[in-house]
Amino acid sequence: MTRVANFTAGPAALPLPVLEEAQRELTDYQGTGMSIMENSHRSKTYEAVHNEAIALLKELLGVPDGYQVLFLQGGASHQFAMLPLNLLPAGKSADYLITGHWSERAFDEAQLVGKARVAGTGKPSGFMRIPTANELELDPSAAYVHITSNNTIYGTEYFAEPSTGGVPLVADMSSDFLSRRLDVGKYGMIYAGAQKNIGPSGVLVAILRQELIDAGRKDIPTIFRYATHAKNNSLYNTPPTFAIYLVRGVLRWVKAQGGLAKIEAVNIDKATRLYATLDDAGGYYRCPVDAASRSRMNVVWRLPSEALEEKFVKDSEKAGLVGLKGHRSVGGLRASIYNAVSIADVQKLCGFMDEFRAKNPA
Ligand SMILES: *Cc1c(COP(=O)(O)O)cnc(C)c1O
Repeated sequence: MTRVANFTAGPAALPLPVLEEAQRELTDYQGTGMSIMENSHRSKTYEAVHNEAIALLKELLGVPDGYQVLFLQGGASHQFAMLPLNLLPAGKSADYLITGHWSERAFDEAQLVGKARVAGTGKPSGFMRIPTANELELDPSAAYVHITSNNTIYGTEYFAEPSTGGVPLVADMSSDFLSRRLDVGKYGMIYAGAQKNIGPSGVLVAILRQELIDAGRKDIPTIFRYATHAKNNSLYNTPPTFAIYLVRGVLRWVKAQGGLAKIEAVNIDKATRLYATLDDAGGYYRCPVDAASRSRMNVVWRLPSEALEEKFVKDSEKAGLVGLKGHRSVGGLRASIYNAVSIADVQKLCGFMDEFRAKNPA
């Protein structure tokens, strides 16, 4: 079997033991004589998987009482609309902090639904840093404040939550969810598409404060209400059962690694190695991101020329390092080093980078 070192931004690498377990169980899940995909979502067999995944999320994150964990479909993009539909009533306004492509998308959708304003933006820096507290102009009567905790394309990340007074903080954590410890109590709502850090595409995890669920608009279609999914334990309609089964596998794996404190330590180690390789290359590699905002999940960099960048992508693929081309909107290189990417994979990349630099002078 050849497995590559997979640095793809998403859908992204999954832990090998989780895939191998799914392979072993594929045609006969636990003696049921059928795959988990072929079990009814109302069966005891599936329900046990579903409920264990929710319980593991609560346990790993230390989710306080008064919150619900939901599985929803349509990805983060669906939440860009579902969030304001539920929580942005007429007569209210929502604050958006703009830190890149995905927060712009979230803001655009909110404006289609109601009144939304920009309460801070990283645009003047080319999104190369997260705005500081004194650059924000928050509306104390806003319905909520929306942030994108990790900017997958630009390679920036929040390392402290903005303080919003009593206004609920809502975060799109699609690309750094479960990459570190988290104080869920600081948030009104967290949402994350699974396909970066916690599973395959097709399912999204949302964690919401019960008060916000209860306060959601009632005059929108049933399927769009958070309250519908909360009341039905995310089984109002048929959930993506196989995706949730794989999420459970990843959550079990995270727990077996030693939980989020251990995962965070490994992620810091990986990011530190990679940024050191960039910074110690005598200017050959250049990370454009402000040091204080550098993401631990998506590391971006440039080479002395676009021709060298192209050669880097080609040569790295030949060396079994996959997915390093930067997002088409910004160019350059990007390594996504999510939970399932090992320290050994990152060491392999760092070694390749040193070699490439020696062989291909500017
Ligand atoms: C990938 C990504 C999205 C888009 O997710 P979809 O599931 O494709 O809608 C949104 N926000 C962030 C931060 C992302 O990384």
